[in-house]
Amino acid sequence: MIYDVAVVGAGACGLTTAIFLNSKKTILFDSKTGAAKLSITGNNRCNITNLTDFDSFFDNYKPNGQFLRNSLSSFSQSDLIKFLKSLKIKTKTVKNRVVLENSTSKELSDKILKTAVKKTLFFPNTPIVDMKQDNELFILKTKKTTYKSKFVVLACGGMSYPQTGSNGLCYKTAAKIGHTIIKPAPFEVPFCSENTKNLQGLSFSNVELTLKIDKKKIKTKGDIIFTHFGISGPAILKLSENDFKNAELIIKLINKDEDEIKQRLLNYKGKAKNLIKKFLSVRFVDSNIKTEKYAKELSKKDINQILDTIFRFSMDVKKCSFDRAFVTKGGVSLKEINPKTMESNIIKNLFFCGEIMDIQGSIGGFNLQAAFSTGFLTAKTINARINNNRH
Ligand SMILES: Cc1cc2nc3c(=O)[nH]c(=O)nc-3n(C[C@H](O)[C@H](O)[C@H](O)COP(=O)(O)OP(=O)(O)OC[C@H]3O[C@@H](n4cnc5c(N)ncnc54)[C@H](O)[C@@H]3O)c2cc1C
Repeated sequence: MIYDVAVVGAGACGLTTAIFLNSKKTILFDSKTGAAKLSITGNNRCNITNLTDFDSFFDNYKPNGQFLRNSLSSFSQSDLIKFLKSLKIKTKTVKNRVVLENSTSKELSDKILKTAVKKTLFFPNTPIVDMKQDNELFILKTKKTTYKSKFVVLACGGMSYPQTGSNGLCYKTAAKIGHTIIKPAPFEVPFCSENTKNLQGLSFSNVELTLKIDKKKIKTKGDIIFTHFGISGPAILKLSENDFKNAELIIKLINKDEDEIKQRLLNYKGKAKNLIKKFLSVRFVDSNIKTEKYAKELSKKDINQILDTIFRFSMDVKKCSFDRAFVTKGGVSLKEINPKTMESNIIKNLFFCGEIMDIQGSIGGFNLQAAFSTGFLTAKTINARINNNRH
């Protein structure tokens, strides 16, 4: 049997391709049960897209955002919202971010997967381990058998959260048939650090952060949360977009003037740490301000130590690995993919969509929109090609 299209990967983009393809002879493979990553997005409330205006939208995928112009035009944010509505999934907008209104990410992924499975021959738990082209047909190998197809879509995702099935195997497949792989790296990733176990669960809103990479200082403001492995939260994920191996993170933990706190310490009658507990959580103070001295007994050095702890809390950090990364940076070089069609410039009838490509967005719905838009454009191109071949 020769299939029209083989879609490798049943994540957001592969499922979109499968749903919008017209051919009834489509096979869909997934290493796991399908849609595993989609089912855990946005802390179960999936940030599906972002309504930032058309031009600044692409700035959220530095440096390669312009690659998405055609795909976003062919399947925009409103097309995505309409598509979800057709699946009875309602969305709402919170500060430009479009999130699910009543459904969970798991419900969303179940519906999308079910819709795609109805239209294809689906092989869950069947990774494609090798692929070659022979007389204009693709031969795809699983562990047990081979399949032939006229078109192939590599929709295998990146390497983040490898337990969801996207483990980088397809980079090898793409490289073997001639594509360049830009070195994958964790992106939108928490920072790992020693000694944060006692702070686990403590969160801070709108704090000032400075990331010191050698002599360079990068500043931002936002929400953070300490975890058992280090520190996470939107502000940390944003900082993780910078390239570095080891860095120092300095956090201004309270939104107050340093001189004011110093004066209050000098005039305070009780134990110094009790004053600080008025501004910071008891757990934080007990584990980080060790002195039991009364404020009036503090030496200059003690005062500076306390002020450093709350205004310049310092941690040695590095990016955590793919296991904790939300997105993968790098992947199949965009120079080798036609942005108007999503077809490979090297191998005819081979297509790419989603995170497998060297495109990565900020958090806030950008990665899913990229996956849905490129998945749709892939289907549109293949539909037109099959239609033309018939006439
Ligand atoms: C915890 C978490 C939360 C996130 N939240 C959001 C969010 O709220 N909003 C947002 O925009 N983005 C979010 N993202 C990012 C977003 O989920 C991804 O960018 C997006 O799902 C990528 O879609 P994809 O289809 O390209 O790849 P994936 O969803 O990774 O799908 C690829 C599929 O291919 C399969 N596969 C891999 N190799 C093979 C093979 N050799 N053979 C067969 N199948 C294979 C895998 O099993 C997988 O199912 C989040 C990511 C994580 C990890």
